Amino acid sequence: MTIISVGEAQTIILKLVDSLQETEIISLDEATGRILAQSISSAVNFPYWDNSAMDGYGVRFEDVKLSNSDAPITLEIVAEIPAGINPKLSIQSGEACRIFTGAMLPNGVDTIVMQENARREGNKVSILSPPNYRGEFVRKQGSFYQAGNSLLPSGIPINESEMAVLATAQCATVKVYRRPRVAILSSGNELISPTEPLQPGKIVDSNQYALKAFVMKNGGIPISLGIVKDEPLLIKQKITEAINRADFVLSTGGVSVGDYDYIDNILAELGGKIMVDGVAMKPGKPLTVAKFDNGCVYFGLPGNPVSALVSCWRFVKLALDKLSGIKGDYQPKLITVRSGDNLSSKGQRETYVWGQLKLIKGEYVFSLAQGSQNSANLINLALTNAFAILPVGVTKINQGETVKVLCLSN
Ligand code: AMP
Ligand code: MG
Repeated sequence: MTIISVGEAQTIILKLVDSLQETEIISLDEATGRILAQSISSAVNFPYWDNSAMDGYGVRFEDVKLSNSDAPITLEIVAEIPAGINPKLSIQSGEACRIFTGAMLPNGVDTIVMQENARREGNKVSILSPPNYRGEFVRKQGSFYQAGNSLLPSGIPINESEMAVLATAQCATVKVYRRPRVAILSSGNELISPTEPLQPGKIVDSNQYALKAFVMKNGGIPISLGIVKDEPLLIKQKITEAINRADFVLSTGGVSVGDYDYIDNILAELGGKIMVDGVAMKPGKPLTVAKFDNGCVYFGLPGNPVSALVSCWRFVKLALDKLSGIKGDYQPKLITVRSGDNLSSKGQRETYVWGQLKLIKGEYVFSLAQGSQNSANLINLALTNAFAILPVGVTKINQGETVKVLCLSN
């Protein structure tokens, strides 16, 4: 086993991954979380037309700029314009229109006086406070976006804000990258499914479920291949199936140095080029990454539940982002915060300790999860949203000092 640094492993892994090229056209209704595979522009301006930002009165600035409450200028109301109407009239000097938020401005009107600054009597309105400038409370046509310019670039996830833009641009369908297919398999003679009776010596295959959730949360289609016993022939069959069906394979277990850890040899026998076979981090030291000729990238993750997830959060997440067609720098989300606890490490490997980032008086503070920091302890991993990182050579970070933290929330 050649142990490389976390940084080296990240670089190698990202180089192995090619972004998906295949795209599909889907309806906007189904596009949440998908990755846009086209740049979007529009032939129309936003706002589409000059419209009012207030309920009030549409006026000509020149008419009312000197008006005040002591000597209010009075205009004749010649029209009422609710939102949605095309006002086919022209407001002349000395005239005003009643207008509501979102309504299109008629010709002649260049400024809106909010109704709180006006007094209406019948078909007359007195302006009690002058507008501050020509164009006040007018949303000018094209002031948010000029037709023909870029609205959205390719390679971004479609979330609520982008949805609003796509809908506004009347993109009823969008071109997105197809979702990555990620096969998941668990290796180990001790593993049973959650529905099987718990016999002595067995443990439930929690990794299958954890990894499925991870894949789904990150936009992939999980292909659950279940449990495979520590038998080379069976493992070989399963891995062959996995690499033929998926873009990525995530397997757990069998990549350490035990007598039953067969995965690395089998990957090599099947023609996989092993690019990573151990990382100087804790947890997560056993990690095998192999590339197959068909493009499939195989991640042989450690069996311990915390280790498997740390490897996913630290490496597979970035690789999956790149595979998915997201354009970016594929760097982990690392931030510097204050530690609310004393943190310790043996200092030999980059050490990840888990816990929570909590907002305390407007500042994020990292607190260690209660209980054991053992890589088999999946119990206190629940509700974890961050890992504090102790670099190689650092054995202690005291409460109150700053620490670099890997954030998990999307
Ligand atoms: P291994 O890497 O196969 O030596 O496994 C390391 C540890 O992780 C052992 O204690 C296994 O029992 C445990 N383990 C392996 N696979 C899983 C799994 N799918 N779910 C939960 N624990 C597992
Ligand atoms: Mg095992």
